Amino acid sequence: MMLENLKIGILGGGQLGAMLLRYAIDFGLNVSVLDKDSDAPCARHTGQFCIGDPMNYDAVVGFGKGLDIITIEKEAVNTQALKYLEGTGVKVYPSPEIIEIIQDKYVQKQFLIGNGIRVVQGILVNGRQDLAQYVDKFPACLKKCRNGYDGKGVMIINTEADINEAFDEPCVLEELVEIKHELSVIVSRNENGDVECYDPVLMVFNKERMILDFQMCPANIDIEVAIAACNQAIKTAEALKLVGILAVEMFVATNGIIYVNELAPRPHNSGHHTIEANVTSQFEQQMRLVLQLPMGSTKLLKPSVMINVLEPAAYRKSAIRDALKTTLSTDDVHLHWYGKKSGMPGRKMGHITITETTIENALAKAVMIRHLLKIENEGK
Ligand code: ADP
Repeated sequence: MMLENLKIGILGGGQLGAMLLRYAIDFGLNVSVLDKDSDAPCARHTGQFCIGDPMNYDAVVGFGKGLDIITIEKEAVNTQALKYLEGTGVKVYPSPEIIEIIQDKYVQKQFLIGNGIRVVQGILVNGRQDLAQYVDKFPACLKKCRNGYDGKGVMIINTEADINEAFDEPCVLEELVEIKHELSVIVSRNENGDVECYDPVLMVFNKERMILDFQMCPANIDIEVAIAACNQAIKTAEALKLVGILAVEMFVATNGIIYVNELAPRPHNSGHHTIEANVTSQFEQQMRLVLQLPMGSTKLLKPSVMINVLEPAAYRKSAIRDALKTTLSTDDVHLHWYGKKSGMPGRKMGHITITETTIENALAKAVMIRHLLKIENEGK
């Protein structure tokens, strides 16, 4: 079938969906998007923006009827509806079964353990009342099983006194890891089982708000660690029998052990740099794979640093204006502004990717831009 005749749907209309749309345009595709927010970034980029909740069965079935292919930009989607649509002949990538594994952090952990992939030890707790019996495990990391993102579903429980403030819903209580590095590896896999890995990305986090400060690729890690991380990512994609792309977030502990922390079977924040720094961006790769076109090269062309621009940066209009002027007049600095209404502190408003001849040069430019944006003062 000709590409332009295919009807593609994306569940979720955020910035990841908008960046997927850019590449869908290059393939001449006909793309609809479903999101419950009429101001979502995708709303302004497609004439087929449908308002509805991707978690709602009827909304997803209504949206998906008549489409050829559905993909996602977030995991919070109704998998029962996707299974029904699959039964009517709609192709769904990633499969609803994969999405279900990833929607629940405990199920995800059990899946990884069952496939011989090392994860941080974790216990399932049903609510606050269960925590008292595990005081001997404190300090520990408590994570909501469902719907956590950008650090919002994660808290550290230091002592028994913290139990009163703890999440009161199903959670995983995880051993606290002494983290040396946080890495993400994006891996792509097609229907034939061919796999290609992007280079590992080093993620540098704001410890207070547990949100990404910036990321760099190549990651300045030993080659053995990089290879081991890629092998874990490939093993995970194969265990899931994934078709599409998968971001595998990992911790490298101070003792050198690599743990898989979290999976995302879709384009991911940690792959933004691939737009400018790689032969094939993660978004183009996702489109190629769901369309069953040849997989693109994942080769890294140049070192890069990516900075997320978060609220409250958007309140500081003059800092933003200065920073953007400098950004746009500096070579090899690329702005991506999502066009979102301002929101809660920590909301992702845009990102900036710096590509350079060396990672040191890229970092130097990143420091300058973060200074202009006054990002280094956030969280203090
Ligand atoms: P989210 O789904 O919100 O991204 P993550 O599981 O990635 O949640 O956790 C957010 C951050 O919290 C991680 O990037 C890491 O810095 C910290 N963190 C998570 N789990 C642990 C752990 N077991 N030990 C130490 N730090 C952790």
